[in-house]
Amino acid sequence: MTLFEFATAGRIVFGEGSAASIPGWAAELGSMVLVVTGRDPGRAESLVEGLQKQDADVVLLCVDGEPDLAFVSGGAELARRRAVQVAIGIGGGSAIDAAKAIAALASNEGDPLDYLEVVGAGKAMVNAPLPLIAVPTTAGTGSEVTRNAVLSVPARRLKVSLRSPLMLPRLAVIDPVLTYDLPPSITATTGLDALTQLIEPFLSARANAMTDALCRDGIGRVARSLERAYRDGHDAAARADMSLASLFGGLALANAGLGAVHGLAAPIGGMFHAPHGAVCAALLPHVMAANVRALCEGGAGAGAALERSAEIGHLLCGRPDADAAVAWLRGIVERLGVPRLGDLGVEAADLPAIAEQAQHSSSMKGNPVALGADQLIAVLTAAL
Ligand SMILES: [Zn+2]
Repeated sequence: MTLFEFATAGRIVFGEGSAASIPGWAAELGSMVLVVTGRDPGRAESLVEGLQKQDADVVLLCVDGEPDLAFVSGGAELARRRAVQVAIGIGGGSAIDAAKAIAALASNEGDPLDYLEVVGAGKAMVNAPLPLIAVPTTAGTGSEVTRNAVLSVPARRLKVSLRSPLMLPRLAVIDPVLTYDLPPSITATTGLDALTQLIEPFLSARANAMTDALCRDGIGRVARSLERAYRDGHDAAARADMSLASLFGGLALANAGLGAVHGLAAPIGGMFHAPHGAVCAALLPHVMAANVRALCEGGAGAGAALERSAEIGHLLCGRPDADAAVAWLRGIVERLGVPRLGDLGVEAADLPAIAEQAQHSSSMKGNPVALGADQLIAVLTAAL
């Protein structure tokens, strides 16, 4: 069996109502607390009240959309000035990623560019970040158990990662109740991102026995529960399935890598103000179709990846067939009203540049078959 390693958050707590215990866990780490949330501070209200009841000093930061370098540098400076002892990221992927980056940069001074991939020097971090508690309020990101934070670099229309094994959160708290009031459109796109983050690691060359187990279980949960959660946000069993599937996707991607959906989503996210989940949801059926087509044409290792694609069909709809998997994905994207790439601002003239950048993205390396520029442009055209 192939050698593998599995790294994750220091501690994972899952369950309805678990968020109520966060102030107590935070108190064990310190009394000066930085809370990072999304654009609506109301999302963090009961957490902040709970912290204040424990006599914690709370600094609240709201990030509007995906965090950029200036935001996290400013946040790190603020954390140092206020002698913050513990950081909490509560929200979607953007809020958690912002908290992760701030916690890391607060204890690793100097130019943040030094640590950034692609646009920076990619230097390894030396100092342990501030202890971080990650609390997702969507079911899709998995960021609560990954070691990177995605940051936008608006001047270069790029999205890049700040990445270090030291950035794994100290504690991940997944409380499905926090997702009950998500609107159906966000449930759909984030849920399909979660599904992408289970399918891509399952097909990745770096898949291992542990990530396989998580992906198989998670794909089945999305298949039975995404549409139910979309139709009734307060369906507790469906929400729990989706929260668990999202967590499993995060665990899998952090340890087995991703594929062409995320390879294409990276440049699209940098070039347009399009939410990551929506981009992945729009691409997923078309990338799966292109992969199956390319795998059918053969090549080294194609047989094993085709068998896995067929198994995905079995997990999604009970038919052990790769084409059935593609058909199921096309169907759910249609039924959940997922926007197309064109609705997100992408135009035909942008496609060659996206395909070109995607070929160099780190996620693309995990794809089970190499897709050339022409094949990627065909995928993008189909999703436009
Ligand atoms: Zn994703």
